[in-house]
Amino acid sequence: MSLVEVETAIVGSGFSGLGMGMALVRAGRRDFVILEKADDVGGTWRDNSYPGCACDIQSHMYSYSFEGNPDWSRLFSGQAEIWDYLRRLTDKYGLRRYIRFGAEVTGASWDADQARWTLRTGDGQEYRARFLVAGVGALHIPNVPELPGIERFTGTAFHSAKWDHDYPLAGKRVAVVGTGASAIQFVPEIAGQVAKLTLFQRSAPWVLPKADGPLPGWAKTLFRAFPPARRLFRSAVYWLNESLAVGLNGHPELLRAGERLGRRHLARQVRDPELREKLMPRYTLGCKRMLMSNTYYPALAGPNAEVVTSGVAEVRERSIVDGDGVEHEVDAIIYGTGFHVTDSFDYLDIKGRDGRDLAGEWRSHGIQTHLGITVSGFPNLFFLLGPNTGLGHNSVVFMIESQIRYALAAMDLTRKHGADAIEVRTSAQADFNRDIQRRLARGVWSTGGCTNWYLDAKGVNRTIWPGMTWRYWLATRTVHPGDFELVAANTGRPEREKVEA
Ligand SMILES: Cc1cc2nc3c(=O)[nH]c(=O)nc-3n(C[C@H](O)[C@H](O)[C@H](O)COP(=O)(O)OP(=O)(O)OC[C@H]3O[C@@H](n4cnc5c(N)ncnc54)[C@H](O)[C@@H]3O)c2cc1C
Repeated sequence: MSLVEVETAIVGSGFSGLGMGMALVRAGRRDFVILEKADDVGGTWRDNSYPGCACDIQSHMYSYSFEGNPDWSRLFSGQAEIWDYLRRLTDKYGLRRYIRFGAEVTGASWDADQARWTLRTGDGQEYRARFLVAGVGALHIPNVPELPGIERFTGTAFHSAKWDHDYPLAGKRVAVVGTGASAIQFVPEIAGQVAKLTLFQRSAPWVLPKADGPLPGWAKTLFRAFPPARRLFRSAVYWLNESLAVGLNGHPELLRAGERLGRRHLARQVRDPELREKLMPRYTLGCKRMLMSNTYYPALAGPNAEVVTSGVAEVRERSIVDGDGVEHEVDAIIYGTGFHVTDSFDYLDIKGRDGRDLAGEWRSHGIQTHLGITVSGFPNLFFLLGPNTGLGHNSVVFMIESQIRYALAAMDLTRKHGADAIEVRTSAQADFNRDIQRRLARGVWSTGGCTNWYLDAKGVNRTIWPGMTWRYWLATRTVHPGDFELVAANTGRPEREKVEA
């Protein structure tokens, strides 16, 4: 196959990759390609089609600031509507012509002589790009636990991110493993159909009331006719969410009111004291992702539901034996067990300067980046929604937009200086990591008494941005030349083949 040459290669077509593509189109830099392993855009919102899937940050905030949508139907929109929003923007910006579907990037390596990244895709194609933007997603690779004996199970088993819509759940005995953000959304949706629902819970999540509902027609009309009103609403939501960051970052006393609300919610919705005891969280609010639902507890309080807290001891042909030795007959197992997060980079084969192996280095020394975007030793590589830029309290789209702006500015800086590549200095990266780890040490994710997916195997938080998001916005507003080295290629330019249609 021929070699395709572009200025910028973007991997992934979720909020991150599409946002980068839109920014390049807006900047008039149309020499790029988006490589997407699936057959459509949307990332999270393409993959997670389970019943009840919705955002848990208000839609007017969980969307691009430059592409406000006056027509969101609810405060927290469902998967189909968010996916539709992303597909609509893909068409509006004419991005489809830049996207190669079915193109899984299997490896990328930096060629210092040419100052280019070489990317290989599963379909055997090779791409060469000056800049590589990784928008591969943080919650993307399903985490399926290895339950003892699962190979003997003769029923149906699937993960919430790969929902089997052909499997008729009606009248079936269904086990759900996990009680995270996805499970609390789909459990109430399926509880009414199945004959028996057995929920295997390792730890009880905090579940708060969800202030959700359809947005009234007059609000949509107002937002459409008078965009500043929509922007004002978005700002109000932003600051409301932002206020939560104070409690999460070193002031657990401020989270007590939320915990009282959670306990009252549980007491109101679950009358049975034994079940209530099982569902009572045993850690500080926010240590795991805060969940919101008005229907989760009532579903578990229903006559066909059972909550098992003793764990899974063994899976048999058509049953699960719990930690107390009780056998539960099941036809299907649904994993609501989340995603590979801190180990998700093990799936990326990225080789930087002097053959440095990104995943290997991160495995041995811990994940280190500068601002979650650039990595020392890996010139012209930009992560979107990279390490330590996830959030527990506000929209990650806000973070992604900051990163896109920063990556564009870094590319500009490279050009302005007539350089071929830009690489963050080790010292800038080390300073950044020291600072965030110092701040994260007092965060609820480390002090709140829970195990969570924000921490790596050594207990270091490699996922969350500590504190207010406006501080991140401020930190990424300017690319400080002193933080970078500008590098020239060792030899001349390669032949080019344009991908632009
Ligand atoms: C159910 C659910 C609900 C969520 N709700 C919220 C919310 O309310 N608010 C919030 O802030 N966040 C939420 N999140 C987090 C969510 O993941 C992000 O908000 C956002 O969608 C991430 O976008 P992304 O483009 O970075 O990654 P993704 O959406 O995961 O997209 C990554 C893309 O990269 C592609 N890809 C990956 N590897 C390769 C490869 N090697 N080669 C080619 N293509 C590749 C994937 O196929 C995918 O299309 C939620 C997550 C889930 C799972």
